[in-house]
Amino acid sequence: MTDFDYDLFVIGAGSGGVRASRIAASHGARVAVAEEFRVGGTCVIRGCVPKKLLVYASHFAHTLHDAPTYGWNLGETAFDWAKLRDFVASDVDRLERAYTSTLESNKVEHFAERAVVAGPNTVRLASGREISAKVILIAVGAWPVMPEIDGAEHCITSNEVFHLPELPGRIVIQGAGYIALEFAGVFNALGSQVTVVNRSDKILRGYDHDLTERLLPIMQARGIEFAFNHPIEKVSKQADDSLLVRTAGGLEIAADAVMVATGRRPKTDGLGLESVGVDLGANGEIPVDEYNRTSCPSIYAVGDVTDRVQLTPVAIRQGHAFADTVFGAMPRTVAYDHIPSAVFTQPPIAAVGLTEEQARLVHGHVKVFKSDFRPMQNMFSAVAERGYYKLVVDPVTDKVLGIHMIGPDSPEILQAAAIAVKAGLTKAQFDETVALHPSMAEELVLMR
Ligand code: NDP
Repeated sequence: MTDFDYDLFVIGAGSGGVRASRIAASHGARVAVAEEFRVGGTCVIRGCVPKKLLVYASHFAHTLHDAPTYGWNLGETAFDWAKLRDFVASDVDRLERAYTSTLESNKVEHFAERAVVAGPNTVRLASGREISAKVILIAVGAWPVMPEIDGAEHCITSNEVFHLPELPGRIVIQGAGYIALEFAGVFNALGSQVTVVNRSDKILRGYDHDLTERLLPIMQARGIEFAFNHPIEKVSKQADDSLLVRTAGGLEIAADAVMVATGRRPKTDGLGLESVGVDLGANGEIPVDEYNRTSCPSIYAVGDVTDRVQLTPVAIRQGHAFADTVFGAMPRTVAYDHIPSAVFTQPPIAAVGLTEEQARLVHGHVKVFKSDFRPMQNMFSAVAERGYYKLVVDPVTDKVLGIHMIGPDSPEILQAAAIAVKAGLTKAQFDETVALHPSMAEELVLMR
């Protein structure tokens, strides 16, 4: 027994915090977690999960459009935003209950209030109560960045987008990263007029150039307007309650909603970290070592608050590795190479490993194999969208260094292919694999 109230106090019950709590408790630690909003965190409550449900909903627009070509005689169809929004909200409620019951069944005490760090081994709850813990884990995530915009109070972020009272007839989305482009696809398919405005002329910085240069014209052909080098300067409310967006480049765009998706900043403000000697980075992030240790020996951090890779599965792994290391006597670190990722645009893109550009920097010379094909499901479609897969290969070892894909279901296909890249398989081993026909995935083993 120790003199502390708990062995572990976790601040933040999101993906990383819940996993760390559950695993630490399973190793016998006495654990408590404080959450100021809802159990589940960004991914479950206002991120990946509700977003993916909206993406599924928006796929029906294309399916219904193509259905008559496949012989389906449909009557008039209509879309009901309120119905979808409420269904998504109820599923989020269900998941929150599931996460809460996971904490309960693992005997993790849950405080439904904000907690801040009051000492190296002390947290203070919003109610004023102080609690001691041998170890404190910071897992508070990140928060949407709102750039300097005159009239920012008229803008929403991904926090509010799931609760819109009605489907906006016209929406302006600022940013050209994951969130901006995923929601541009959703609103476009559901029937809104979408304009994406961005400060640069780049979309999805970090993804292979061949993918982004194919995605952009497809999104434009679907009716999404893009205004590059036009960050929003001002948003003003008009007499009829609509909004007028003025960009720094002088464009004026009428809108019913303005969504800003310009990155997410670690949510460390006011958390008391500086007072106990936890160093913070320039973006408010908590730098940690490979074992998730901060500069204060009793305080650790995992997930988006550390601003390493802002992805749910990474936060979960970090939380698990932390708990095994500190409470399970099994020191474990997380490998950051070969993390697969996807952007649920329409069509989606997915990637693992090095881009062609990165591979050239590391290996000098690389071999590149490409397949540019028309997916069978688009054969009858009025939209002649093509798929594109690319393998980046080390010419010396023949190992596949990266896979980059755009096309229907590419995230589903990429997850399996990522195992091969992680395992260090060679292009020859891809070629030896018999194709599964007819599929889009077979392109992966047919590139010569
Ligand atoms: P991203 O980092 O993906 O994109 C940010 C965008 O905003 C870029 O287009 C950038 O422009 C622009 N931008 C950045 N700062 C400013 C500024 N001060 N003023 C104007 N424009 C600015 O951020 P998101 O918000 O889309 O997503 C945050 C994170 O959430 C992602 O990095 C990702 O890790 C995660 N996420 C993952 C998803 C997935 O896995 N499918 C889905 C959604 C989110 P430029 O590039 O020109 O600098």
